[in-house]
Amino acid sequence: PRQTQFGLMSHAELVTEHETQTANYAKLKTEKLTLDITRGKPSPEQLDLSQELLELPGAADYRDANGTDVRNYGGLHGLPELRAIFGELLNIPVSNLLAGNNASLEIMNDLLVFAMLHGTADSQRRWADEPVLKFLCPVPGYDRHFAITEALGFEMIPIPMKGDGPDTHLIAELVANDPAVKGLWAVPNYSNPTGITFSEAVTRELVSMPTAAPDFRIVWDNAYAVHPLTDTAEPVLDVLGMAAAAGHPNRVFVLASTSKITFAGAGVSFFGSSTANIEWYLKHLGKKTIGPDKVNQLRHLRFFGDAAGVRAHMQKHREILEPKFKLVLRILEDRLGASKVASWTEPKGGYFISLDVLEGTASRVVALAKDAGIALTPAGASFPYGKEPEDKNIRIAPSFPSTAELEKAMDGLATCVLLAASEKLMASHS
Ligand code: PMP
Repeated sequence: PRQTQFGLMSHAELVTEHETQTANYAKLKTEKLTLDITRGKPSPEQLDLSQELLELPGAADYRDANGTDVRNYGGLHGLPELRAIFGELLNIPVSNLLAGNNASLEIMNDLLVFAMLHGTADSQRRWADEPVLKFLCPVPGYDRHFAITEALGFEMIPIPMKGDGPDTHLIAELVANDPAVKGLWAVPNYSNPTGITFSEAVTRELVSMPTAAPDFRIVWDNAYAVHPLTDTAEPVLDVLGMAAAAGHPNRVFVLASTSKITFAGAGVSFFGSSTANIEWYLKHLGKKTIGPDKVNQLRHLRFFGDAAGVRAHMQKHREILEPKFKLVLRILEDRLGASKVASWTEPKGGYFISLDVLEGTASRVVALAKDAGIALTPAGASFPYGKEPEDKNIRIAPSFPSTAELEKAMDGLATCVLLAASEKLMASHS
């Protein structure tokens, strides 16, 4: 075996290792690659699975089952039949689920902006009038969540992720004592970027714990609810029912979309919550629109037919995605396993793999990769303010590149990880 554990090497062995990796890296640079594994976009092949949408609903089809003419204004709730399909998949009653336009991120932004400008259904004053605003951010997490709360001026508090969800002890302590803590970002199924699914026990704790703020909210972003990469899908919990049973019916805002089901840029988003929250949201939404794009909703309804149609469609995505995830995991193990300078998640669904390299080297790895023509997400991107104190996390998005490109990019990345680690360890020896 060529490689031993870096931590056990003598200085002389490290020098040799560093020379090897320097040579590997020089060779990598001569390949003049231009590869990109930055964002979790569906590949063209995945988008092709939904190509039929471009022909739907068809020239003569513009009414839903109620006779609503989808070409016209109105219907702020979204089409009932499409809401029924996703209500079944998301475990939410139709009356508590709205269908919107193409981006659930837009709804999340609106929810927080509405709370800032008007206060929530349980607020004593507008959030904008609070002296201090704080938001809890499980890390590593979704950078665009953190970008919203950063732009609105929240102080963001990182919460470590464990194998079954965010650290609930820490959360319970923070929310119990500080009324400035107004909310928590959460991606409950196949989290971005760790792939972790929140357990039922963690979910129950989150919806039950006492909070100093009466208007504490969990943004329960179930973007990957129906995106398993295994035969047994993680369950989608009835989080709204659990919150209501715990006496906090308004605590949870549920989001989802078809962005990673049909077209990332032209899907349908969903918002589920308590009746009071739905009324509150619609009151403010009704000022910015007369209704969503119901033609697109009808197109999606015709395309899926029913909830089983969505699951069958997701199986086709899995057939494309699963080999890419397996490829990434195989290269990580082959190239980095023995060195013990890196660890990574093995997701059972979703869109990402989270890679931890030797502490203090993530930025260096990303810079080395960039110089070799491999674009990675900036180090720290998955942390509030884009800053990770330990500088070790890198988010890998295997979906977009072809298998051949992905293989090259991952192999190159592994070389950069080993070079950066040998540099760092040599420096700490001398
Ligand atoms: N939430 C999460 C956790 C995501 O990873 C993504 C896409 N990367 C989104 C939301 C974006 O969803 P949408 O396209 O519906 O705005």
